[in-house]
Amino acid sequence: MIVVMKPDATEDQISHVRDHISQLGLQPQVIVGRHQTVIAAIGEERPGLVETLEPSPGVVKVLPIMAPYKRASSELKAERTVVRARSLEIGGKRIGVIAGPCSVESEGQIVSIARTLKALGATGLRGGAYKPRTSPYSFQGHKVDGLKMLATARDETGLAIVTEVMAPEHVAVVAEYADVLQIGARNMQNYQLLTAVGESGKPAFLKRGMASTMEEFLLAAEYILDRGNDQVILCERGVRTFEEHTRFTLPLASVPYLQAKTHLPVVVDPSHGTGKAPLVPPMARAAIAAGADGLMVEVHEDPEHAMSDGAQTITPSAFERMMAECRRVAEAVDRSL
Ligand code: PEP
Ligand code: MN
Repeated sequence: MIVVMKPDATEDQISHVRDHISQLGLQPQVIVGRHQTVIAAIGEERPGLVETLEPSPGVVKVLPIMAPYKRASSELKAERTVVRARSLEIGGKRIGVIAGPCSVESEGQIVSIARTLKALGATGLRGGAYKPRTSPYSFQGHKVDGLKMLATARDETGLAIVTEVMAPEHVAVVAEYADVLQIGARNMQNYQLLTAVGESGKPAFLKRGMASTMEEFLLAAEYILDRGNDQVILCERGVRTFEEHTRFTLPLASVPYLQAKTHLPVVVDPSHGTGKAPLVPPMARAAIAAGADGLMVEVHEDPEHAMSDGAQTITPSAFERMMAECRRVAEAVDRSL
């Protein structure tokens, strides 16, 4: 339910409605907008609630939130959420670019690529320390040592660190080093992990599950928001289809769809979305044309010898060209990069 207050509603009227919502067994959330304040009442919608809340002084109207994801819904909050972490800003006019290798391989590797990427305009540094691998025999990441290497790269460049956390019991240690906690596609519906990240106090980077619907995606975000963490970035990274010419199928229609349904910023990952390096820059351009708020791109100085995902990883010089092209597309859609 959304209680819309009059533009001139007083503080007393707002707290009265907030208390009333609590007494009804619902969780109130006050959202102060530019023109007026609205108060969300989160919880089970019961008949009669509208009639109970509408007569309160200072209230214009009470509306049901139709979407099952209440806190993520644009019905609740019309203004776009901007997620900020050090150098990274996603959801504003400037498009955020999170770039880096699939895996953190060594301190030398991550510091060197971070310097290059920073110089080429990246605003965030990615790199996996805990790696979700299809095979248990593949490289699983350097774990805590990898986190320390990322922290060194941040000290050297100022770039915000975006890195994956795979298990609720790792949230504390990953949050100690990372600026943004990534939840991978394979964990999008790991509700304990979502809850733990929601309680971490760090921004979350939530990747779409490879077989998830938009509604499931937004309900996963809802788990994080419901723990009081409103800093959530959504990432479209492609879904599994019958098609085999690409690793996944990257549905860019999800960008404008999500932006209509939610106030959360939307990033596109053309690396995992295609699985093929030559397809990454064109799909990055297309993502920006479709309105994406950011990109996540895998970049490595020597993709052929990368410890994971080399086939979809671009070189720094390809990244440089991609950035120049993306800048022109961004300008055409009234954004900057
Ligand atoms: C990654 O970003 O390296 C990754 C494993 O991504 P996804 O969860 O989208 O497969
Ligand atoms: Mn990868």
